[in-house]
Amino acid sequence: MGVKMTEAYHIDLKDNIDLKEASEFNSPLTHKLLCENPQCRARLKYVPSYLKGEEPNIIFVSDYFGLVSSDKGNDEDGDASDWKNAPKNHVDSCRYNTIGQVKIIARESEGLIQSISAEGYEFRLHLLSKALNNISSISSDIFEGDLTSNKIGTVYKRDTGKLSAYLSTAKKILILRSEMDEHEDLSKHVIISYNGKKIYWSNFYFETEDYSKCFYRLQNHQHPVCTYGEVKKIFPPDGNVRFTKVQLKALTESQNDEQIITVVRLYVKNAQWIDGLGENMKVLAFGFMKTKENYVKEKNITWLNIEVRIDQKKQIHFFS
Ligand SMILES: [Zn+2]
Repeated sequence: MGVKMTEAYHIDLKDNIDLKEASEFNSPLTHKLLCENPQCRARLKYVPSYLKGEEPNIIFVSDYFGLVSSDKGNDEDGDASDWKNAPKNHVDSCRYNTIGQVKIIARESEGLIQSISAEGYEFRLHLLSKALNNISSISSDIFEGDLTSNKIGTVYKRDTGKLSAYLSTAKKILILRSEMDEHEDLSKHVIISYNGKKIYWSNFYFETEDYSKCFYRLQNHQHPVCTYGEVKKIFPPDGNVRFTKVQLKALTESQNDEQIITVVRLYVKNAQWIDGLGENMKVLAFGFMKTKENYVKEKNITWLNIEVRIDQKKQIHFFS
């Protein structure tokens, strides 16, 4: 359980190494690794990068150092007793410790993330929903001609302090989620509640391989969701559309002879918010998303479109 790391301490070198050193061909530095925090020194493994998805939507998954969940390491680690005897988890105060991070975020969350037990927190999605609803109700309806409307310039004015705090908190917890080395990790500590009901993280946070699941979820549920993916193309505003469109790499699936392509598009109100964002970079966005299905008979392709309007800078985050 922990955050993906880019630095680790090597037992034999008695020094820190970075991902570049571990990733070199036949690198001897992929084992006997510990947390770079001298107060922690939890044992780590090196996880190499890989590619996933299909052309032309191949996604690069970066390498990282992460905690070792099983008790035994591999042969290279096996005779290193310093490694075998090292703690399996980061100490509470370590900045790579999940629950430690959640505690810090919860403290400044204005009640959006509340403690419910010693190591359990509740992410109150209905509060965030309310804040996001306020944005869209004030700046007119989402989509359906709206993206070309002149009314877009309307600004959110009421209760901006609280809205801003909620959006900051949501963004922090989602960034933490995207940095986890185990999918189920954060869900052990943070449950998502929405009007008294529990929402699983897998129904709220969607990476590229889950986009079609996201599409069908949104057809039956009205709550904000989060998408994480890689940028395929950015379209600047033109005469008809006043927003900058960020298209993410799609998920392509096949069913018999039919292709099903699920694509996420972010419509960003202010181009300055994504200054520095470019193709192939990872981006996180959340909000109320809309779906649209489109079947192209000649090509036998079904397009599942997921679209979200980014009205506030804090609804989007990119990783450089
Ligand atoms: Zn640590």
